[in-house]
Amino acid sequence: MNPWPTVRTSFSEACEAPVGSDGVDAGEKGLTYQAAAGEDWDAFVERTVQDNCAGVECLAGIPGSVGGTPVQNVGAYGQEVASAIERVRAFDVEDRAFVELSASECGFAYRRSRFNSTDPGRFIVTRVDYRLTLGGAPTLKYADLHRAILEGRPDGARPSLAEVAALVRQVRQSKGMLLVEGDTDCRSAGSFFKNPVVTEEQLLRIAEGSEKEPPRFPAGAGAENIGRVKVPAAWLIEQSGFAKGYSLGAAGISSRHTLALINRGGASAAEMLKLAGRIADAVESRFGIRLEMEPVLVGF
Ligand SMILES: Cc1cc2nc3c(=O)[nH]c(=O)nc-3n(C[C@H](O)[C@H](O)[C@H](O)COP(=O)(O)OP(=O)(O)OC[C@H]3O[C@@H](n4cnc5c(N)ncnc54)[C@H](O)[C@@H]3O)c2cc1C
Repeated sequence: MNPWPTVRTSFSEACEAPVGSDGVDAGEKGLTYQAAAGEDWDAFVERTVQDNCAGVECLAGIPGSVGGTPVQNVGAYGQEVASAIERVRAFDVEDRAFVELSASECGFAYRRSRFNSTDPGRFIVTRVDYRLTLGGAPTLKYADLHRAILEGRPDGARPSLAEVAALVRQVRQSKGMLLVEGDTDCRSAGSFFKNPVVTEEQLLRIAEGSEKEPPRFPAGAGAENIGRVKVPAAWLIEQSGFAKGYSLGAAGISSRHTLALINRGGASAAEMLKLAGRIADAVESRFGIRLEMEPVLVGF
C-alpha cells in the first residue's frame, strides 16, 4: 500500500493543491504525484514548485513530456528523475498487459534505464509517480547554481523552490538550453554527447593528453560506477580543438554551450552527424575515449 498522500495531476481539470502547500512551515512530508505520460514536463515541474514540493525543481525548463523522463533518466543541475520516481505505469507490448514498475525495476543509471537499454520499445509509459517532499529544501548540489544562489542572498537564507527553478531556467537560457523562439543557439537536441564515465586508468590517459588537469565529478550511484568518475564531454571537446560557435556548413556548435550541436538552418541529418562524427573522432584520437550520443536516431 502506498503510504504517501497522492496528488493526481491533470492540467485539463482543476486539481487540489496539497494540504499545507503554501508555506515551508508545513514540515517535510512525502507526497506522491501521479502524472500522466502525455503531460508537459516543464508545466509539471512548475506545478510541483508552486505546491512547494521539492525533488524536481532543478529539472525546470527541460522540453518534453512526463512519459519521456524515465526513458533516459532525465537529469540536470544536480538532480535526476530517478531519485524522485516511485513507480512507472506502462503497457508491456510483449505481455500485452499494464505493469507497474518500481524505481529499482526501472534500472536507472546516468542517462539510462531499462526503457532505453535492455528493453527498448517494450514499454509504453502511461503514468509516472514521483515522490516529492512537501516543504523540502531545494537541491543545490551543482556548484554554479549554489554560487549563483548565494550571490543573491548574502544573508544565507534558504532559497525557495520557485527561486531555484527560476534560476535554473535563467542559467539554461544563458546557455541556449531553454527553448526560446528566435534563439538560434537553442535549435538543438539538448546535450548531444553524454559525459563519459571513466576508470582511473582512462582518467590518467586523459590527463596525459592535456596540459590542463581534467575536471571530474562523481559518477553517480550504481555498482558499475565504483572506482569511476564522470568527465565533462564539453571539456574533452574543447581540448580537442572545437570551440563554441564552430561551424561545418549549416551545422555547428552553439555559441553558448559546447555540448549543443545546432542547426543554423537547412542542415540535413547527415550533415549534423558528419559534424558529430568529426568531433567524436577528434576526442577519441586525443584521449582514447569514444563519446556516446545522447539523442536517439529515428529512421537511420
Ligand atoms: C534544448 C534542450 C535541452 C535539453 N536539456 C536536457 C537536460 O538538461 N537533461 C536531459 O536529460 N535531457 C535534456 N534534453 C533532452 C529531452 O528534453 C529529454 O530527453 C526529454 O525527456 C524528451 O522528452 P520527449 O517527450 O520529447 O521524448 P522524445 O524525444 O519524443 O523521446 C525520447 C525517447 O523516449 C521515448 N519515449 C518518449 N515518451 C515515451 C513513453 N510515453 N513511453 C515509452 N517511451 C517513450 C521515445 O521513444 C524516445 O526513445 C534537452 C533537449 C533540448 C531540445
